Amino acid sequence: MKPFQDKVALVTGGSSGIGRATAIAFAEQGARVVIASRRAAESEETLRLVRAAGSDGLFVPTDVTREADLANLIARLDAVYGRLDFAFNNAGTLGDLVPITEQTPENFLHVMTTNVQSVLLGMKHQINYMRAHGGGSIVNNSSVYGLRAFPTGSVYAASKHAIIGLTKAAALEVATAGIRVNAVLPAVTYTEMSERVRVEAGLSPEESGAGHPISRVGQPSEIASAVIYLCSEGAGFITGHSLVLDGGMMA
Ligand code: NAP
Repeated sequence: MKPFQDKVALVTGGSSGIGRATAIAFAEQGARVVIASRRAAESEETLRLVRAAGSDGLFVPTDVTREADLANLIARLDAVYGRLDFAFNNAGTLGDLVPITEQTPENFLHVMTTNVQSVLLGMKHQINYMRAHGGGSIVNNSSVYGLRAFPTGSVYAASKHAIIGLTKAAALEVATAGIRVNAVLPAVTYTEMSERVRVEAGLSPEESGAGHPISRVGQPSEIASAVIYLCSEGAGFITGHSLVLDGGMMA
């Protein structure tokens, strides 16, 4: 019997990158996986990989900036599976990478709504459901830029710092309800998002890895395995924690 047999995992932003890798990792542990993202073809491809990993799942078209979509997500998974054991709030955007002197209210709102409000309102509905169904584990995807910053990344870094605050507050609010809430803080991880930054900066893959003492960027599967650990029984005493996954960058 696999460790997460009969369990149900929700992954926002499961259509690519870290979310897709985590959906596959949940499936390998035996969990059924609910994919919440906007792109249908990419999400269906993740589901195909989930099935290839020996489990099954469901794609629920979701824009995480809309609370109605986040609520509908829980209603759908309740109707199909009747349970929610794990939630990985992973969907996110970089927004415009420009100096503070060129920032706009539009970019601020876009990044904060996508990265921060989605985690806040996502957890609102997940916690309400988990509380009524025996508990669970929530992991939020922050970033090393939840602890540091980079020029042009003011709004992105602010959003990722905010996710750590939300994670801590939620962990305290539900600590006695059988729900644990943690965050993962990846450094540069090879995905569509990081490739966009690398190409725009004119960096080679080697140069992109150079900021990490172990001389390479991370792989989505390496972030996924940390999420699986935080959801596992072995992490039962861990809540409110920010787990840095950075090849030594923050050392
Ligand atoms: P990615 O492949 O571009 O994935 C981003 C995901 O977010 C996509 O699945 C996208 O799905 C989803 N998304 C964006 N806006 C959404 C919205 N409004 N509603 C629903 N889903 C939305 O990049 P990634 O690197 O895997 O990013 C995943 C998370 O990791 C982000 O939160 C990012 O900040 C974080 N992170 C990444 C790195 C890195 O170096 N790659 C490092 C630290 C943290 P749809 O477009 O299909 O909706």
